[in-house]
Amino acid sequence: MLGKMMDQPLLVSNLIAHAARYHGATEVVSVETTGGIERSDWKTLEANARRLASALTRMGLAAEDRCATIAWNNRRHMEIYFGVAGAGLVCHTINPRLHPEQLIYIVNHAEDQVLFFDRTFLPAVAKLREHFKTVKQFVLMGPRDEDAARMLDGLVFYDELLEQGDADFDWPQFEETRASSLCYTSGTTGNPKGVLYTHRSCMLHSLAGNQPDGIALSAKDTVMPVVPMFHVNAWGIPYIAPGVGAKLVLPGPGLDGESLVKLIDGEAVTLALGVPTIWMGLLGALEKTGSKAASLTRTVVGGSALPPSMIPAFRDKYGVELIHAWGMTETSPLGTLNQLLQKHGSLDAAAQAEIRLGQGRPPYGVELRIVDESGHVLPHDGKTQGELQIRGHWIVDTYFKADKSALTMDGWFDTGDVATIDADGYMIIRDRAKDIIKSGGEWISTVELENIAIGHPAVANAAAIAARHPKWDERPVLVVLKAEGAEASEDELLAFYDGKVASWQVPDKVVFVDALPVGGTGKVVKAKLREQFGDVLMQEEDA
Ligand code: ADP
Repeated sequence: MLGKMMDQPLLVSNLIAHAARYHGATEVVSVETTGGIERSDWKTLEANARRLASALTRMGLAAEDRCATIAWNNRRHMEIYFGVAGAGLVCHTINPRLHPEQLIYIVNHAEDQVLFFDRTFLPAVAKLREHFKTVKQFVLMGPRDEDAARMLDGLVFYDELLEQGDADFDWPQFEETRASSLCYTSGTTGNPKGVLYTHRSCMLHSLAGNQPDGIALSAKDTVMPVVPMFHVNAWGIPYIAPGVGAKLVLPGPGLDGESLVKLIDGEAVTLALGVPTIWMGLLGALEKTGSKAASLTRTVVGGSALPPSMIPAFRDKYGVELIHAWGMTETSPLGTLNQLLQKHGSLDAAAQAEIRLGQGRPPYGVELRIVDESGHVLPHDGKTQGELQIRGHWIVDTYFKADKSALTMDGWFDTGDVATIDADGYMIIRDRAKDIIKSGGEWISTVELENIAIGHPAVANAAAIAARHPKWDERPVLVVLKAEGAEASEDELLAFYDGKVASWQVPDKVVFVDALPVGGTGKVVKAKLREQFGDVLMQEEDA
Protein backbone atom coordinates (compact mmCIF):
# COMPACT_ATOMS: atom_id res chain seq x y z
CA MET A 1 0.00 0.00 0.00
CA LEU A 2 1.36 3.42 -0.89
CA GLY A 3 1.56 6.08 1.83
CA LYS A 4 -0.58 9.17 1.59
CA MET A 5 1.86 12.00 2.21
CA MET A 6 2.88 14.88 -0.06
CA ASP A 7 5.33 13.80 -2.70
CA GLN A 8 7.77 16.66 -3.21
CA PRO A 9 11.01 15.98 -5.04
CA LEU A 10 14.27 16.68 -3.18
CA LEU A 11 15.68 19.44 -5.41
CA VAL A 12 18.66 21.64 -4.51
CA SER A 13 16.65 24.75 -5.45
CA ASN A 14 14.59 24.05 -2.30
CA LEU A 15 17.65 24.92 -0.21
CA ILE A 16 18.25 28.35 -1.66
CA ALA A 17 14.50 29.09 -1.68
CA HIS A 18 14.41 28.22 2.02
CA ALA A 19 17.37 30.50 2.74
CA ALA A 20 15.73 33.41 0.88
CA ARG A 21 12.39 32.96 2.63
CA TYR A 22 13.50 32.33 6.19
CA HIS A 23 17.02 33.79 6.36
CA GLY A 24 16.80 36.43 3.64
CA ALA A 25 18.79 39.12 5.45
CA THR A 26 21.57 36.77 6.59
CA GLU A 27 24.82 37.84 5.00
CA VAL A 28 26.87 36.22 2.29
CA VAL A 29 30.33 37.80 2.32
CA SER A 30 32.53 37.25 -0.68
CA VAL A 31 36.11 38.16 -1.48
CA GLU A 32 36.14 39.25 -5.09
CA THR A 33 38.72 38.14 -7.62
CA THR A 34 40.02 41.71 -7.50
CA GLY A 35 40.54 41.41 -3.73
CA GLY A 36 37.72 43.63 -2.41
CA ILE A 37 35.06 42.36 -0.01
CA GLU A 38 31.48 42.26 -1.27
CA ARG A 39 28.41 41.89 0.96
CA SER A 40 25.22 40.27 -0.15
CA ASP A 41 22.51 38.17 1.51
CA TRP A 42 20.54 34.99 0.87
CA LYS A 43 17.55 36.88 -0.56
CA THR A 44 19.67 38.65 -3.16
CA LEU A 45 21.61 35.52 -3.94
CA GLU A 46 18.45 33.54 -4.60
CA ALA A 47 16.98 36.30 -6.79
CA ASN A 48 20.20 36.31 -8.82
CA ALA A 49 20.12 32.51 -9.11
CA ARG A 50 16.57 32.76 -10.48
CA ARG A 51 17.67 35.42 -12.97
CA LEU A 52 20.52 33.22 -14.10
CA ALA A 53 18.25 30.16 -14.36
CA SER A 54 15.83 32.08 -16.58
CA ALA A 55 18.64 33.48 -18.75
CA LEU A 56 20.09 29.99 -19.24
CA THR A 57 16.67 28.55 -20.02
CA ARG A 58 16.22 31.23 -22.71
CA MET A 59 19.54 30.20 -24.26
CA GLY A 60 17.73 27.04 -25.34
CA LEU A 61 19.82 24.55 -23.37
CA ALA A 62 18.37 21.05 -23.04
CA ALA A 63 17.63 19.43 -19.66
CA GLU A 64 20.82 18.19 -17.97
CA ASP A 65 23.13 20.07 -20.36
CA ARG A 66 26.39 20.82 -18.60
CA CYS A 67 27.46 24.35 -17.64
CA ALA A 68 31.01 24.50 -16.33
CA THR A 69 32.75 26.79 -13.86
CA ILE A 70 36.43 27.61 -13.42
CA ALA A 71 36.18 29.82 -10.38
CA TRP A 72 37.13 30.64 -6.80
CA ASN A 73 34.79 30.50 -3.85
CA ASN A 74 32.68 33.61 -4.35
CA ARG A 75 29.11 34.90 -4.51
CA ARG A 76 28.67 34.49 -8.26
CA HIS A 77 29.91 30.90 -8.06
CA MET A 78 27.18 30.19 -5.47
CA GLU A 79 24.56 31.72 -7.75
CA ILE A 80 25.79 29.52 -10.60
CA TYR A 81 25.58 26.38 -8.42
CA PHE A 82 21.88 27.07 -7.85
CA GLY A 83 20.96 28.89 -11.07
CA VAL A 84 22.32 26.04 -13.18
CA ALA A 85 21.13 23.04 -11.13
CA GLY A 86 17.85 24.76 -10.22
CA ALA A 87 17.07 25.23 -13.92
CA GLY A 88 17.47 21.49 -14.47
CA LEU A 89 20.98 21.81 -15.93
CA VAL A 90 24.19 20.34 -14.52
CA CYS A 91 26.79 22.46 -12.74
CA HIS A 92 30.22 21.09 -13.66
CA THR A 93 32.92 22.52 -11.40
CA ILE A 94 36.44 22.34 -12.86
CA ASN A 95 39.68 22.42 -10.90
CA PRO A 96 41.76 25.25 -12.43
CA ARG A 97 44.99 23.66 -11.20
CA LEU A 98 44.70 20.78 -13.67
CA HIS A 99 47.13 20.49 -16.56
CA PRO A 100 45.79 22.09 -19.76
CA GLU A 101 45.46 18.66 -21.44
CA GLN A 102 43.32 17.41 -18.57
CA LEU A 103 41.22 20.57 -18.68
CA ILE A 104 40.61 20.08 -22.38
CA TYR A 105 39.80 16.42 -21.86
CA ILE A 106 37.30 17.18 -19.10
CA VAL A 107 35.46 19.99 -20.92
CA ASN A 108 35.11 17.87 -24.05
CA HIS A 109 34.17 14.72 -22.18
CA ALA A 110 31.50 16.60 -20.22
CA GLU A 111 30.35 18.33 -23.43
CA ASP A 112 30.09 21.59 -21.54
CA GLN A 113 27.81 24.08 -23.32
CA VAL A 114 28.53 27.16 -21.23
CA LEU A 115 31.75 28.02 -19.40
CA PHE A 116 31.66 30.51 -16.52
CA PHE A 117 35.06 31.68 -15.29
CA ASP A 118 36.68 34.21 -12.98
CA ARG A 119 38.87 37.00 -14.37
CA THR A 120 41.98 35.18 -13.04
CA PHE A 121 41.47 32.40 -15.57
CA LEU A 122 40.81 34.59 -18.62
CA PRO A 123 44.29 34.09 -20.16
CA ALA A 124 44.06 30.31 -19.78
CA VAL A 125 40.52 30.15 -21.18
CA ALA A 126 41.40 32.43 -24.12
CA LYS A 127 44.35 30.18 -24.92
CA LEU A 128 42.41 26.92 -24.73
CA ARG A 129 39.07 28.02 -26.19
CA GLU A 130 39.61 26.52 -29.63
CA HIS A 131 40.10 23.11 -27.97
CA PHE A 132 36.83 23.38 -26.07
CA LYS A 133 34.76 21.87 -28.87
CA THR A 134 31.29 22.02 -27.34
CA VAL A 135 31.30 25.35 -25.49
CA LYS A 136 28.86 27.79 -27.11
CA GLN A 137 29.00 30.57 -24.55
CA PHE A 138 31.94 31.88 -22.51
CA VAL A 139 30.83 33.93 -19.51
CA LEU A 140 33.20 36.10 -17.48
CA MET A 141 32.04 36.22 -13.87
CA GLY A 142 31.90 39.97 -13.39
CA PRO A 143 30.75 43.25 -14.94
CA ARG A 144 31.54 44.30 -18.52
CA ASP A 145 35.28 44.50 -19.09
CA GLU A 146 36.48 45.86 -22.44
CA ASP A 147 40.01 44.44 -22.13
CA ALA A 148 38.57 40.99 -21.54
CA ALA A 149 36.15 41.39 -24.46
CA ARG A 150 39.12 42.02 -26.73
CA MET A 151 40.86 38.86 -25.53
CA LEU A 152 37.95 36.53 -26.16
CA ASP A 153 35.59 36.93 -29.08
CA GLY A 154 31.91 36.77 -28.23
CA LEU A 155 32.54 36.93 -24.50
CA VAL A 156 29.42 37.39 -22.35
CA PHE A 157 29.53 39.18 -18.97
CA TYR A 158 27.83 37.56 -16.02
CA ASP A 159 26.38 40.76 -14.59
CA GLU A 160 24.84 41.64 -17.97
CA LEU A 161 23.48 38.12 -18.35
CA LEU A 162 21.74 38.51 -14.97
CA GLU A 163 20.19 41.82 -16.03
CA GLN A 164 18.47 39.98 -18.88
CA GLY A 165 17.15 37.36 -16.45
CA ASP A 166 13.82 37.25 -14.69
CA ALA A 167 13.84 37.31 -10.86
CA ASP A 168 10.25 36.04 -10.84
CA PHE A 169 11.24 32.86 -12.63
CA ASP A 170 9.72 29.88 -10.79
CA TRP A 171 12.02 27.03 -9.87
CA PRO A 172 10.98 24.15 -12.13
CA GLN A 173 9.95 20.87 -10.51
CA PHE A 174 11.29 17.58 -11.85
CA GLU A 175 12.42 14.12 -10.67
CA GLU A 176 14.94 14.21 -7.85
CA THR A 177 17.06 11.56 -9.54
CA ARG A 178 18.02 14.01 -12.29
CA ALA A 179 21.65 15.12 -12.40
CA SER A 180 22.51 18.34 -10.56
CA SER A 181 26.28 18.55 -10.64
CA LEU A 182 29.41 16.95 -11.99
CA CYS A 183 32.94 16.62 -10.60
CA TYR A 184 35.88 14.77 -12.09
CA THR A 185 38.36 12.82 -9.99
CA SER A 186 41.84 14.27 -10.21
CA GLY A 187 43.00 11.32 -12.29
CA THR A 188 46.48 10.75 -10.93
CA THR A 189 46.36 7.53 -12.92
CA GLY A 190 44.68 7.54 -16.33
CA ASN A 191 42.02 9.97 -17.48
CA PRO A 192 39.87 11.78 -14.92
CA LYS A 193 36.50 10.15 -14.31
CA GLY A 194 33.24 12.07 -13.93
CA VAL A 195 30.97 11.63 -10.93
CA LEU A 196 27.47 12.82 -11.75
CA TYR A 197 25.56 13.72 -8.57
CA THR A 198 21.76 13.78 -8.43
CA HIS A 199 19.53 16.34 -6.71
CA ARG A 200 18.51 13.57 -4.34
CA SER A 201 22.08 12.54 -3.50
CA CYS A 202 23.10 16.18 -2.85
CA MET A 203 20.05 16.76 -0.64
CA LEU A 204 20.49 13.59 1.42
CA HIS A 205 24.23 14.25 1.72
CA SER A 206 23.70 17.73 3.05
CA LEU A 207 20.89 16.74 5.43
CA ALA A 208 22.63 13.70 6.87
CA GLY A 209 26.15 15.15 6.86
CA ASN A 210 24.97 18.11 8.90
CA GLN A 211 23.60 16.23 11.88
CA PRO A 212 24.83 17.25 15.37
CA ASP A 213 27.49 14.50 15.25
CA GLY A 214 28.50 15.61 11.77
CA ILE A 215 29.28 19.13 10.59
CA ALA A 216 26.53 20.50 12.87
CA LEU A 217 26.16 23.85 11.11
CA SER A 218 23.28 26.06 12.33
CA ALA A 219 21.71 29.47 11.76
CA LYS A 220 23.87 30.73 14.64
CA ASP A 221 27.08 29.98 12.72
CA THR A 222 29.27 31.88 10.30
CA VAL A 223 30.84 29.31 8.01
CA MET A 224 33.88 29.71 5.78
CA PRO A 225 34.59 26.96 3.27
CA VAL A 226 38.27 27.30 2.45
CA VAL A 227 38.02 24.01 0.59
CA PRO A 228 37.37 25.08 -3.00
CA MET A 229 33.94 24.89 -4.58
CA PHE A 230 35.64 22.92 -7.37
CA HIS A 231 36.81 20.26 -4.88
CA VAL A 232 33.83 17.92 -4.44
CA ASN A 233 31.30 20.75 -4.01
CA ALA A 234 33.29 22.30 -1.15
CA TRP A 235 32.32 19.24 0.92
CA GLY A 236 28.63 20.16 0.66
CA ILE A 237 28.81 23.58 2.36
CA PRO A 238 27.22 25.46 -0.60
CA TYR A 239 24.12 23.30 0.03
CA ILE A 240 24.28 22.97 3.81
CA ALA A 241 24.74 26.71 4.52
CA PRO A 242 21.53 27.92 2.79
CA GLY A 243 19.69 24.87 4.11
CA VAL A 244 20.26 26.06 7.68
CA GLY A 245 20.57 29.79 6.97
CA ALA A 246 24.11 30.22 8.26
CA LYS A 247 26.11 33.34 7.42
CA LEU A 248 28.50 32.39 4.62
CA VAL A 249 32.02 33.75 4.09
CA LEU A 250 33.62 32.95 0.73
CA PRO A 251 37.38 33.59 0.74
CA GLY A 252 37.96 34.07 -3.01
CA PRO A 253 41.49 33.55 -4.30
CA GLY A 254 43.51 34.48 -1.16
CA LEU A 255 43.95 31.24 0.75
CA ASP A 256 47.17 32.17 2.58
CA GLY A 257 47.13 32.17 6.38
CA GLU A 258 47.09 35.94 6.83
CA SER A 259 44.14 36.53 4.50
CA LEU A 260 42.23 33.82 6.34
CA VAL A 261 43.03 35.30 9.77
CA LYS A 262 41.68 38.66 8.58
CA LEU A 263 38.44 37.06 7.41
CA ILE A 264 38.02 34.94 10.53
CA ASP A 265 38.46 37.94 12.82
CA GLY A 266 36.69 40.46 10.58
CA GLU A 267 33.59 38.32 9.97
CA ALA A 268 33.58 36.38 13.26
CA VAL A 269 33.80 33.00 11.52
CA THR A 270 32.75 30.14 13.82
CA LEU A 271 33.37 27.14 11.53
CA ALA A 272 35.88 26.74 8.72
CA LEU A 273 36.66 23.78 6.48
CA GLY A 274 39.80 22.84 4.57
CA VAL A 275 42.72 20.50 3.94
CA PRO A 276 45.56 20.17 6.49
CA THR A 277 48.01 22.36 4.52
CA ILE A 278 45.56 25.29 4.82
CA TRP A 279 45.50 24.91 8.59
CA MET A 280 49.32 24.70 8.74
CA GLY A 281 49.31 28.09 7.00
CA LEU A 282 46.68 29.43 9.38
CA LEU A 283 48.60 28.32 12.48
CA GLY A 284 51.69 30.13 11.20
CA ALA A 285 49.69 33.30 10.52
CA LEU A 286 47.99 33.24 13.94
CA GLU A 287 51.41 33.02 15.54
CA LYS A 288 52.70 35.89 13.43
CA THR A 289 49.75 38.26 13.79
CA GLY A 290 49.01 37.46 17.44
CA SER A 291 45.34 36.83 16.60
CA LYS A 292 43.55 34.39 18.90
CA ALA A 293 40.91 33.50 16.29
CA ALA A 294 38.48 34.18 19.13
CA SER A 295 35.26 33.51 17.19
CA LEU A 296 36.41 30.19 15.71
CA THR A 297 35.10 27.16 17.60
CA ARG A 298 35.81 24.32 15.16
CA THR A 299 37.25 23.40 11.81
CA VAL A 300 36.58 20.41 9.60
CA VAL A 301 39.79 18.90 8.25
CA GLY A 302 39.94 16.33 5.47
CA GLY A 303 41.25 15.49 2.03
CA SER A 304 44.40 14.00 3.49
CA ALA A 305 45.39 12.71 6.92
CA LEU A 306 45.37 15.13 9.83
CA PRO A 307 48.90 15.48 11.28
CA PRO A 308 48.73 14.51 15.00
CA SER A 309 50.40 17.71 16.21
CA MET A 310 47.57 19.80 14.78
CA ILE A 311 44.88 18.83 17.31
CA PRO A 312 46.70 20.15 20.40
CA ALA A 313 48.12 23.10 18.42
CA PHE A 314 44.59 24.37 17.74
CA ARG A 315 42.93 23.27 20.95
CA ASP A 316 45.42 24.43 23.56
CA LYS A 317 46.20 27.86 22.23
CA TYR A 318 43.07 28.84 20.33
CA GLY A 319 40.31 26.67 21.80
CA VAL A 320 39.47 25.35 18.32
CA GLU A 321 38.24 21.77 17.99
CA LEU A 322 39.35 19.93 14.85
CA ILE A 323 36.83 17.57 13.27
CA HIS A 324 38.61 15.05 11.09
CA ALA A 325 36.61 13.87 8.08
CA TRP A 326 37.20 11.46 5.22
CA GLY A 327 35.71 11.23 1.78
CA MET A 328 36.32 11.31 -1.91
CA THR A 329 34.84 12.66 -5.15
CA GLU A 330 32.93 9.39 -5.54
CA THR A 331 31.32 9.80 -2.11
CA SER A 332 29.98 13.39 -2.49
CA PRO A 333 32.35 13.52 -0.36
CA LEU A 334 31.29 12.84 3.25
CA GLY A 335 32.04 9.23 4.20
CA THR A 336 33.06 9.66 7.83
CA LEU A 337 33.31 12.44 10.43
CA ASN A 338 35.04 12.20 13.75
CA GLN A 339 32.99 13.12 16.81
CA LEU A 340 33.14 11.44 20.19
CA LEU A 341 30.50 9.17 21.72
CA GLN A 342 28.90 9.58 25.13
CA LYS A 343 31.19 6.94 26.64
CA HIS A 344 34.29 8.95 25.66
CA GLY A 345 33.22 11.89 27.83
CA SER A 346 35.13 10.63 30.85
CA LEU A 347 38.43 10.15 29.01
CA ASP A 348 41.22 12.68 29.48
CA ALA A 349 42.14 15.12 26.72
CA ALA A 350 45.03 13.01 25.41
CA ALA A 351 42.89 9.88 25.09
CA GLN A 352 40.14 11.87 23.38
CA ALA A 353 42.66 13.40 20.98
CA GLU A 354 43.90 9.90 20.12
CA ILE A 355 40.39 8.86 19.03
CA ARG A 356 39.86 12.12 17.15
CA LEU A 357 42.97 11.54 15.05
CA GLY A 358 41.21 8.80 13.12
CA GLN A 359 38.86 9.59 10.24
CA GLY A 360 35.71 8.91 12.32
CA ARG A 361 32.39 7.14 11.77
CA PRO A 362 29.83 7.16 8.98
CA PRO A 363 26.73 9.34 9.39
CA TYR A 364 23.33 7.75 8.70
CA GLY A 365 23.17 7.11 4.98
CA VAL A 366 26.48 5.35 4.37
CA GLU A 367 27.99 2.05 5.49
CA LEU A 368 31.61 0.91 5.48
CA ARG A 369 33.36 -2.45 5.39
CA ILE A 370 36.88 -3.75 4.82
CA VAL A 371 37.80 -6.72 2.65
CA ASP A 372 40.94 -8.68 1.86
CA GLU A 373 42.49 -9.01 -1.59
CA SER A 374 40.04 -11.73 -2.60
CA GLY A 375 37.03 -9.76 -1.41
CA HIS A 376 36.34 -11.56 1.90
CA VAL A 377 34.87 -9.30 4.53
CA LEU A 378 37.29 -8.66 7.43
CA PRO A 379 36.51 -8.10 11.12
CA HIS A 380 35.94 -4.65 12.60
CA ASP A 381 38.45 -5.07 15.41
CA GLY A 382 40.48 -1.89 14.99
CA LYS A 383 43.54 -3.96 14.02
CA THR A 384 42.84 -5.87 10.82
CA GLN A 385 43.70 -3.80 7.74
CA GLY A 386 41.75 -4.21 4.55
CA GLU A 387 40.54 -2.45 1.45
CA LEU A 388 37.83 0.01 2.35
CA GLN A 389 34.44 -0.27 0.63
CA ILE A 390 31.41 1.96 0.99
CA ARG A 391 27.75 2.06 -0.03
CA GLY A 392 24.95 4.52 0.56
CA HIS A 393 22.60 7.21 -0.75
CA TRP A 394 25.32 9.52 -2.06
CA ILE A 395 27.93 7.08 -3.36
CA VAL A 396 28.73 6.76 -7.08
CA ASP A 397 27.27 3.82 -8.98
CA THR A 398 28.54 4.37 -12.53
CA TYR A 399 31.05 6.97 -13.72
CA PHE A 400 29.70 9.53 -16.20
CA LYS A 401 29.43 7.93 -19.66
CA ALA A 402 30.90 4.62 -18.47
CA ASP A 403 29.05 1.61 -19.79
CA LYS A 404 29.21 -0.46 -16.65
CA SER A 405 28.76 0.04 -12.94
CA ALA A 406 31.85 0.76 -10.80
CA LEU A 407 30.52 -1.43 -7.98
CA THR A 408 31.44 -4.89 -6.73
CA MET A 409 29.11 -7.78 -7.56
CA ASP A 410 27.34 -7.24 -4.23
CA GLY A 411 26.91 -3.48 -4.67
CA TRP A 412 29.78 -1.81 -2.80
CA PHE A 413 32.20 0.84 -4.07
CA ASP A 414 35.88 0.06 -3.63
CA THR A 415 37.57 3.25 -2.38
CA GLY A 416 41.18 2.30 -3.11
CA ASP A 417 42.02 3.12 0.51
CA VAL A 418 43.35 0.69 3.10
CA ALA A 419 41.78 1.06 6.52
CA THR A 420 40.94 -0.47 9.89
CA ILE A 421 37.49 -0.18 11.47
CA ASP A 422 36.87 -0.76 15.19
CA ALA A 423 33.86 -2.20 16.96
CA ASP A 424 32.31 1.28 17.37
CA GLY A 425 32.69 1.95 13.65
CA TYR A 426 35.64 4.34 13.94
CA MET A 427 37.64 4.06 10.73
CA ILE A 428 41.34 4.86 10.32
CA ILE A 429 42.85 5.26 6.87
CA ARG A 430 46.15 3.40 6.89
CA ASP A 431 47.05 4.16 3.32
CA ARG A 432 45.95 4.22 -0.25
CA ALA A 433 46.04 0.73 -1.71
CA LYS A 434 48.46 1.90 -4.38
CA ASP A 435 50.79 3.62 -1.88
CA ILE A 436 51.01 1.06 0.91
CA ILE A 437 54.41 -0.63 1.27
CA LYS A 438 54.35 -4.40 1.00
CA SER A 439 57.52 -5.52 2.72
CA GLY A 440 57.99 -9.30 2.72
CA GLY A 441 54.23 -9.92 2.90
CA GLU A 442 53.69 -7.38 5.71
CA TRP A 443 52.00 -4.04 5.08
CA ILE A 444 53.61 -0.80 6.23
CA SER A 445 51.47 2.32 6.37
CA THR A 446 53.08 5.29 4.66
CA VAL A 447 50.69 7.63 6.49
CA GLU A 448 52.01 6.46 9.86
CA LEU A 449 55.64 6.92 8.81
CA GLU A 450 54.86 10.41 7.49
CA ASN A 451 53.00 11.49 10.61
CA ILE A 452 56.01 10.58 12.75
CA ALA A 453 58.42 12.39 10.42
CA ILE A 454 56.27 15.54 10.36
CA GLY A 455 56.40 15.55 14.17
CA HIS A 456 60.18 16.20 13.96
CA PRO A 457 60.87 19.93 14.25
CA ALA A 458 63.34 19.94 11.32
CA VAL A 459 60.79 18.44 8.92
CA ALA A 460 58.41 20.70 6.98
CA ASN A 461 56.82 17.87 5.04
CA ALA A 462 57.57 14.23 4.27
CA ALA A 463 56.37 11.40 2.05
CA ALA A 464 57.04 7.71 2.60
CA ILE A 465 57.18 5.59 -0.52
CA ALA A 466 57.68 1.97 -1.46
CA ALA A 467 61.11 1.44 -2.99
CA ARG A 468 61.91 -1.82 -4.75
CA HIS A 469 64.05 -4.18 -2.72
CA PRO A 470 65.78 -7.39 -3.88
CA LYS A 471 64.94 -9.36 -0.73
CA TRP A 472 61.75 -7.81 0.71
CA ASP A 473 60.11 -6.73 -2.61
CA GLU A 474 59.46 -3.29 -1.16
CA ARG A 475 60.95 -1.29 1.68
CA PRO A 476 60.06 2.20 2.95
CA VAL A 477 62.06 5.23 1.85
CA LEU A 478 61.31 8.60 3.40
CA VAL A 479 61.45 11.68 1.18
CA VAL A 480 61.91 14.79 3.32
CA LEU A 481 61.50 18.51 2.79
CA LYS A 482 63.37 20.23 5.62
CA ALA A 483 61.87 23.17 7.50
CA GLU A 484 63.36 26.53 6.52
CA GLY A 485 66.78 26.97 8.11
CA ALA A 486 66.56 23.61 9.94
CA GLU A 487 69.18 20.87 9.82
CA ALA A 488 68.79 17.14 10.43
CA SER A 489 70.81 14.15 9.31
CA GLU A 490 69.47 10.88 7.92
CA ASP A 491 70.60 9.04 11.07
CA GLU A 492 68.87 11.51 13.33
CA LEU A 493 65.56 11.19 11.46
CA LEU A 494 65.75 7.39 11.43
CA ALA A 495 66.53 7.36 15.17
CA PHE A 496 63.37 9.43 15.65
CA TYR A 497 61.36 6.28 14.78
CA ASP A 498 62.81 4.36 17.76
CA GLY A 499 59.99 3.11 19.96
CA LYS A 500 57.34 4.68 17.71
CA VAL A 501 56.99 1.82 15.21
CA ALA A 502 58.25 -1.78 15.04
CA SER A 503 61.90 -1.88 13.97
CA TRP A 504 61.08 -3.58 10.64
CA GLN A 505 58.81 -0.64 9.76
CA VAL A 506 61.55 1.99 10.09
CA PRO A 507 62.49 3.38 6.66
CA ASP A 508 65.65 2.04 5.04
CA LYS A 509 66.71 5.42 3.77
CA VAL A 510 65.99 9.15 3.89
CA VAL A 511 66.23 11.27 0.76
CA PHE A 512 66.21 15.08 1.12
CA VAL A 513 64.49 17.17 -1.56
CA ASP A 514 63.93 20.90 -2.19
CA ALA A 515 60.25 20.43 -3.01
CA LEU A 516 57.65 17.65 -3.01
CA PRO A 517 55.54 17.22 -6.18
CA VAL A 518 51.98 18.37 -5.46
CA GLY A 519 48.92 17.55 -7.61
CA GLY A 520 45.81 19.51 -8.51
CA THR A 521 44.08 19.03 -5.14
CA GLY A 522 47.14 19.89 -3.06
CA LYS A 523 48.20 16.32 -2.28
CA VAL A 524 51.72 14.95 -2.70
CA VAL A 525 51.95 12.89 -5.90
CA LYS A 526 53.63 9.74 -4.64
CA ALA A 527 53.63 8.10 -8.06
CA LYS A 528 56.13 10.77 -9.17
CA LEU A 529 58.31 10.13 -6.14
CA ARG A 530 58.24 6.40 -6.80
CA GLU A 531 59.38 7.05 -10.36
CA GLN A 532 62.21 9.21 -9.06
CA PHE A 533 63.32 7.26 -6.00
CA GLY A 534 61.77 3.80 -6.46
CA ASP A 535 65.17 2.27 -7.26
CA VAL A 536 67.41 3.93 -4.67
CA LEU A 537 67.68 0.74 -2.66
CA MET A 538 68.46 -1.40 -5.74
CA GLN A 539 71.28 0.95 -6.69
CA GLU A 540 72.75 0.57 -3.23
CA GLU A 541 72.58 -3.22 -3.51
CA ASP A 542 74.34 -2.98 -6.89
CA ALA A 543 77.11 -0.78 -5.55
P1 ADP B 1 41.72 12.15 -5.57
O1 ADP B 1 41.38 10.71 -5.27
O2 ADP B 1 41.60 12.45 -6.99
O3 ADP B 1 42.93 12.66 -4.87
P2 ADP B 1 39.65 12.99 -3.83
O4 ADP B 1 39.56 14.37 -3.40
O5 ADP B 1 38.44 12.28 -4.24
O6 ADP B 1 40.58 13.06 -5.01
O7 ADP B 1 40.47 12.20 -2.76
C1 ADP B 1 39.98 11.10 -2.07
C2 ADP B 1 41.09 10.41 -1.34
O8 ADP B 1 41.76 11.32 -0.47
C3 ADP B 1 40.61 9.32 -0.43
O9 ADP B 1 40.39 8.13 -1.15
C4 ADP B 1 41.74 9.22 0.57
O10 ADP B 1 42.79 8.43 0.07
C5 ADP B 1 42.21 10.64 0.69
N1 ADP B 1 41.65 11.26 1.88
C6 ADP B 1 40.58 12.05 1.97
N2 ADP B 1 40.36 12.45 3.23
C7 ADP B 1 41.32 11.86 3.98
C8 ADP B 1 41.64 11.87 5.38
N3 ADP B 1 40.94 12.56 6.25
N4 ADP B 1 42.69 11.15 5.78
C9 ADP B 1 43.43 10.44 4.91
N5 ADP B 1 43.18 10.40 3.59
C10 ADP B 1 42.14 11.10 3.12
